[in-house]
Amino acid sequence: MIRFTRISTSLKSLASLAVGCVLYTFTGAPEALAANNVSGFTVVLDAGHGGRDFGCQGRKASEKEITLDVVKRTAAILEKSKEDSINVVLTRNNDTFVALDKRAAIANNASADLFISVHVNSIDKRSKGREKVHGASVYTVGLHKSDANMAVAMRENSVIELEEDFTEVYQGFDPNSSESYIIFELTQNRHMANSIELASLVQDGLIKHAGRADKGVRQAGFLVLWATKMPSILIELDFICNPAAENFLASDAGKQKCAEAIASAVKSYKKAHPGIIQSN
Ligand SMILES: [Zn+2]
Repeated sequence: MIRFTRISTSLKSLASLAVGCVLYTFTGAPEALAANNVSGFTVVLDAGHGGRDFGCQGRKASEKEITLDVVKRTAAILEKSKEDSINVVLTRNNDTFVALDKRAAIANNASADLFISVHVNSIDKRSKGREKVHGASVYTVGLHKSDANMAVAMRENSVIELEEDFTEVYQGFDPNSSESYIIFELTQNRHMANSIELASLVQDGLIKHAGRADKGVRQAGFLVLWATKMPSILIELDFICNPAAENFLASDAGKQKCAEAIASAVKSYKKAHPGIIQSN
């Protein structure tokens, strides 16, 4: 019944939003950041945030630093593993600001087989228990089943407000308005099953190998995942607002464990899908 109510509400809003929904194609020129097309199995690793966008801030570390470090470590492991022959493309390899639509465009232009966006979680400064909350979760794009999932998507999507022309590029998508999230109800994602498979592999590694608590594989309306054309996930490694988790995420050993978990999941996924090696 809850779902039916939600659909009814959505349909009421549809008339005013339908035009906008169709136009969410993020047509910003991707050429400058486009990766060259490459042959073979390609994974795009996306270090969340960067430059003027710090992401979540801990006591001593910021999300943008942790995500870049983990992504570079993951890339190093995958590139070293010659028998797996995996091409790695990074959406950023230094402390620069990259717009969300450009991140997706880099993956689409590379005809990537997988897109992995790495992030660090946090909860509102006024929330009780923000120093105790902990655990990893891996998201695929889809309908949020809880307000908490929606809040994570809203926070991650709100980075578009740091882009100068975001109203134009994202066709009026308002990351803070629940109405804008109707696009995630209306769109069928044909990569959902493979995205969930990859998400489960990463989640498993973050728990068993990196020792994170299990906050599960989830769905929510992440713009960056919605705009990619391949199986795509967004990883929230742990909560930077929890001092113990921040210490782990800020340490070399912690970041290495996370990177190993992600790289191992990519290799397992590739092995399970031998037929999808592309020749672009
Ligand atoms: Zn983030």
